[in-house]
Amino acid sequence: MSIKNNLLQIKSTLPSTVTLVAVSKTKPIPDLMEAYDAGQRIFGENKIQEMAEKWEAMPKDIEWHMIGHVQTNKVKFMAPFVSLIHGVDSLKLLHEINRQAKKNNRIIDCLLQIYIAEEESKFGLDEDELSGIIRFITQNNEIYKNIRIVGLMGMATFTDNQEQIKKEFTHLKSIFDNHKNLKSEICNLKSLSMGMSGDYQLAIECGSTMVRIGSSIFGGR
Ligand SMILES: *Cc1c(COP(=O)(O)O)cnc(C)c1O
Repeated sequence: MSIKNNLLQIKSTLPSTVTLVAVSKTKPIPDLMEAYDAGQRIFGENKIQEMAEKWEAMPKDIEWHMIGHVQTNKVKFMAPFVSLIHGVDSLKLLHEINRQAKKNNRIIDCLLQIYIAEEESKFGLDEDELSGIIRFITQNNEIYKNIRIVGLMGMATFTDNQEQIKKEFTHLKSIFDNHKNLKSEICNLKSLSMGMSGDYQLAIECGSTMVRIGSSIFGGR
């Protein structure tokens, strides 16, 4: 199957309420252009340097999503163009994103990453930390004028156990629901980013509104 066919096949199965992020990390620009020519406009990358190089080389109507873990000192390299940062997991990082967005005269949308997996390696906040961050930035909203929290992101445990994955996605959805009524200028949870190639159908059943799909579109890495 070609990239175009993979993409169109996956898109045909997604409900209209679900946004597809085509995860193009490690893939060369011609592969991304094949997806672009088939109509894809949202691409996800996990390294800032690689994303910036692709942004420079590719058409400017692409929305670039940073899906990887972000180091504070690298935010400046994506602040001019990034459209959504999925993996925000600290106030320190939000503070720097706000600072760099301001320098670029932009507002940058962010998702807060929640820890739902049973693995030590995955980043993210627990529900109390999430509540704390939302409270803090809402109370200090005159400082954080250049960021918006628009949703949550999570990654399930890497396992074949569907029940376990379902439990983790359901947990994230309940955290999302618990916080989505706290609507303000700075925080309005609309997007729930969960689901990758192996588990996106399950994620959608559990309430995902944004899936991040790489290998099922572009092939293995
Ligand atoms: C690589 C990656 C994906 C895509 O994974 P696939 O299994 O290739 O679909 C999704 N989300 C994050 C955070 C990733 O790093």
